Amino acid sequence: MSRTTADERQADVIVVGAGPAGASAAYHLASTGADVLLLEKSAFPRDKICGDGLTPRAVKQLIGMGFDLDAPGWQRNLGLRIVGAGHRLELPWPELASYPPYGMVRTRMDLDEILARHAEKAGARLQERTSVIAPVLDERTGRVTGVRAKPVDDRGRRVGAAGDDLVYRAPVVIAADGVSARIAVSLGLERRDNRPMGVAVRAYYETPRHDDPWMESWLELWDGPPGRSNLLPGYGWIFGVGDGTANVGLGILNTSKAFQHVDYKDILRRWLVNTPEEWGFRDENMVGKIGSAALPMGFNRKPHYTRGVLLVGDSGGMVNPFNGEGIDYALESGEIAAHTVLQALARPDAAGRERVLEGYAEALDAAYGGYFTLGRVFAKMIGNPTFMKQATRYGLPREALMKFMLKLMANLTDPRGGDVSDRVINGLSRVAPAA
Ligand SMILES: Cc1cc2nc3c(=O)[nH]c(=O)nc-3n(C[C@H](O)[C@H](O)[C@H](O)COP(=O)(O)OP(=O)(O)OC[C@H]3O[C@@H](n4cnc5c(N)ncnc54)[C@H](O)[C@@H]3O)c2cc1C
Repeated sequence: MSRTTADERQADVIVVGAGPAGASAAYHLASTGADVLLLEKSAFPRDKICGDGLTPRAVKQLIGMGFDLDAPGWQRNLGLRIVGAGHRLELPWPELASYPPYGMVRTRMDLDEILARHAEKAGARLQERTSVIAPVLDERTGRVTGVRAKPVDDRGRRVGAAGDDLVYRAPVVIAADGVSARIAVSLGLERRDNRPMGVAVRAYYETPRHDDPWMESWLELWDGPPGRSNLLPGYGWIFGVGDGTANVGLGILNTSKAFQHVDYKDILRRWLVNTPEEWGFRDENMVGKIGSAALPMGFNRKPHYTRGVLLVGDSGGMVNPFNGEGIDYALESGEIAAHTVLQALARPDAAGRERVLEGYAEALDAAYGGYFTLGRVFAKMIGNPTFMKQATRYGLPREALMKFMLKLMANLTDPRGGDVSDRVINGLSRVAPAA
């Protein structure tokens, strides 16, 4: 990094963070010829604590970015298997015009490197081991004109002295720095405490269930025989990775009383030790360690545009409160941000450019605002154990209702010409106030 020249540190757009959101933004910008610097503090391949589940929304984005999903390593699945209240219900992904009828699982160790290299191949200048410290502001206008960054090693430790920090300049910065949201926080954009937040833990286990063609979701976690032991807080998942392992984890919402008052790793072990022995979810089959991280949901940080900076993915709190998915919204918001910035850069004057950039926040509200508000109400309801018990007991045996719930929770509908459930979900999202 210290060998770059000032010219090399100048670009049309700087993207901070090369996770799914940043890689998507950089890819879409670079493919149309924009000069993009993609700054990433780690070095690929690197892990990110995640469930590794890609629903049809995320798959659609990958197809749109030109990936060959028939290539080895992309583990396809048919839909969701829901387990709870003595039921096991398999719900295929819906047949829609707007989304493919399959999901996927790919480890973040692989996925994130593939995405970042794809952006690089499209022309983005990916610079790893570059940790952004803060935005650089124009003192007169208060606008962001670039970022200050420090070189780090593979473990994130500073290389050299503080005087070695470098300034990178661009008229527009896309903050894709994940849940830490360093850029947004530096600009005073605090977390909105009245928005849902989740914490989730996951581990990989060697298991014969590694190629299960269904993504499995557990609505109840027991530490012994169901109904005759303790009901643990949270919701679990088992996602076969297809490489001999499965990604197994659980998440808890801040609408639950247990949030932040329990040992999440202990709960994971207590749940898994009661799953069938032959599945292999025991410590001796664990690959790596149990990891945990936060899920910022339902637009928990706003505004999504301010002073030359656009927030994408987790930095703008774009995890779906219904189901904890964030990769698809990271990829989508990256694309929306890229197209907005391209239009802005083409405007001849500063006022016109600003008008276009401000449209980004409006575009996000239009795309997800109402839906995330519904998700917030849902997150509140399922935080109530009595509601959840009744919903599981009476909802799961009703297949038509569960098909509707799958569409609602995974945000999978056709905007035009869909069936009744599509129209109901789209209608509700339209009338709900933006999150
Ligand atoms: C346990 C768990 C399970 C989950 N399971 C799923 C799932 O199955 N499916 C799903 O869709 N979503 C899931 N999510 C959510 C998903 O992981 C996130 O929504 C998604 O990673 C968001 O992508 P992003 O690009 O916005 O942020 P990130 O993936 O966090 O990427 C941010 C990038 O920015 C870099 N960065 C950060 N700070 C700096 C800095 N200062 N300078 C330079 N670079 C920086 C980071 O190193 C990283 O590469 C899960 C989350 C958790 C915690």
